[in-house]
Amino acid sequence: MTSEKLPKGRYLVTGGAGFVGSHLSQRLLELGCEVVVMDNFITGRKSNIQNLLGNSKFSLVEKDIIEPLAISGGLAGIFHMASPASPVDYMKFPIETLRVGSIGSDNILNLAHQKKCPVLVASTSEIYGDPLEHPQKESYWGNVHTIGPRGCYDESKRYLEAITMAYHRVHNVSTRIIRIFNTYGPKMRTDDGRVVPNFCMQALANQDITVYGEGKQTRSFCYVDDLVEGILRVIQCDHIEPINLGNPVETTIYEFAERIITMAKSHSKIIHQPLPQDDPKTRCPDISKARKLLDWNPTVDLETGLRCAFDYFKSIR
Ligand code: UDP
Repeated sequence: MTSEKLPKGRYLVTGGAGFVGSHLSQRLLELGCEVVVMDNFITGRKSNIQNLLGNSKFSLVEKDIIEPLAISGGLAGIFHMASPASPVDYMKFPIETLRVGSIGSDNILNLAHQKKCPVLVASTSEIYGDPLEHPQKESYWGNVHTIGPRGCYDESKRYLEAITMAYHRVHNVSTRIIRIFNTYGPKMRTDDGRVVPNFCMQALANQDITVYGEGKQTRSFCYVDDLVEGILRVIQCDHIEPINLGNPVETTIYEFAERIITMAKSHSKIIHQPLPQDDPKTRCPDISKARKLLDWNPTVDLETGLRCAFDYFKSIR
């Protein structure tokens, strides 16, 4: 199974002007599909889809999916990617985050039911919270602080998973759930507060690199093209339960800072700032399910991927 085998048809991408959504939309067009992007631009950007606007197979609907939805014509499938996704963004927009995950997801699942098309929903490694199991398998139920600052995102996505299963069980909607782990690449916003744009921009400007806490917390970073390939395989498989998508190569944030300084040949120094509340101490996907079901494996190593992301940040600086 590969993305090339995806049935050519008309796909709706919610959040298609966001970082992952815009890469997914571009890939769908490259594969010969028609793409309708729906985005309210709360955190997405027109510039991410600027290169797609002239394509006759592409259309943009500027809309908040928590409002009643109607879309004419048939759909071959829906990719529901819409949501603020970086900690800085969802903490700035906690109510919008909870609403898009709940009301927005309900609307989108209902649309998939009406159109009788498959729907893939983007959940997240955040549903594991600050995990007590490592690496995280899909069978782990998580350790979430519901009322903490990250609770708005974690619970929005946990609700998303629950309502997705409900539509599947009650209406037999053909649903897929992916849990996306840290992903990076070109088109990330430089001000989204995440570690990749922060460190790259700081290194480019020879400014201090802000490691939160001691930097012993770990993350595993997946290049966006690998994620998109995984997404396009998941929609083609018939597995209803969640599938982790991420790169299992784990690094501490301190090592990550050192790596970026070296890559950028930067004069930046590492400084320490307070660790945000409830920042997960470890995160690493167990991707054996994706390997087995989709024959999928990340192919872009951190060095190569970071170079592409870095060059992008350099070009827009
Ligand atoms: N982080 C950091 N410095 C920064 C931004 C983030 O040390 O300038 C840390 C953050 O505390 C977390 C990790 O990098 O442990 C990844 O943070 P990010 O916001 O990218 O996403 P998260 O994985 O927490 O959702």
